[in-house]
Amino acid sequence: MSVAPESGGAPERLRLMAVHAHPDDESSKGAATAARYAAEGVDVLVVSCTGGERGDVLNPSFGPGPTSLEGMRELRRSEMARAREALGVQQRWLGFVDSGLPEGDPLPPLPEGSFGLQPVEVAARPLVELVRAFRPHVMTTYDPSGGYPHPDHIMCHKVAFEAFEKAGDPSCYPGTGAPWEVFKLYYNHDFSLTRMRTIHEAMEGQGLVSPFGDWIESRAAREIPERPVTTRVEVSAYFPQRDAALVAHASQIDPEGFFFAVPRDLEADVWPWEEYELAESRVPTTLPEDDLFAGVRDVVETVGATVSTEGEHA
Ligand SMILES: [Zn+2]
Repeated sequence: MSVAPESGGAPERLRLMAVHAHPDDESSKGAATAARYAAEGVDVLVVSCTGGERGDVLNPSFGPGPTSLEGMRELRRSEMARAREALGVQQRWLGFVDSGLPEGDPLPPLPEGSFGLQPVEVAARPLVELVRAFRPHVMTTYDPSGGYPHPDHIMCHKVAFEAFEKAGDPSCYPGTGAPWEVFKLYYNHDFSLTRMRTIHEAMEGQGLVSPFGDWIESRAAREIPERPVTTRVEVSAYFPQRDAALVAHASQIDPEGFFFAVPRDLEADVWPWEEYELAESRVPTTLPEDDLFAGVRDVVETVGATVSTEGEHA
């Protein structure tokens, strides 16, 4: 399957590239946004930097998982195939090997050859090639902290940022296709303290047991600075697609667990959004935004997208 969009000066479809570290990250961060834009006629491409080979089985009802990296890679590929179908998106692997989450004090070194140990220019090269082939108008990834301190999430930020910066420069990464300048780069922020507190309080207000109490306490205690949110995309109609994609990652996601503990009608009432931080933009836009393509729609002659932009041009 080719990722290359139609070319020439004719009206084109909008294109969104979501860069993630492991299979399942696309379903826990920005998933409903991806499903919404795909449903609205945007070409959405999820990029998975690694195969998730060092993930543990996190679903107690799954049973024992594969014991080899190859077995885990196979399993996660089959899960990913169902998730991308649930979201209605395309997906590509960059082909790097999961670094695993190092644990212990002191932390052990990362496994030889893993994604987290790659020099940025090596790790970014296949992504630059994919950017130049798919020609996204907008990219999403994680903030410089990785969102949480997994070495692959931090490296995912680095390669996405590098690709955003360099893909448009013909002197960079020769041999990876014609330069393409991406208009906007966003960071995913689906786990803000504000969101967790809002949902937590709404659940307690209805006499329900919230799954977020401990999480909020430990996060608040660590005093992790909250990153700015510039953009809220309304996605509640796409919670079912997000949930189906999460469930598809059966070895990783417990259908009785954390991700499914919030009644979806309550969530739609108090937090119908997925949130983003606009990190870089090469088009003018006005903050706050409710659309990742704000500003882009003014400079690209589009077909296929049926997204409502009411109010934006008032
Ligand atoms: Zn991950």
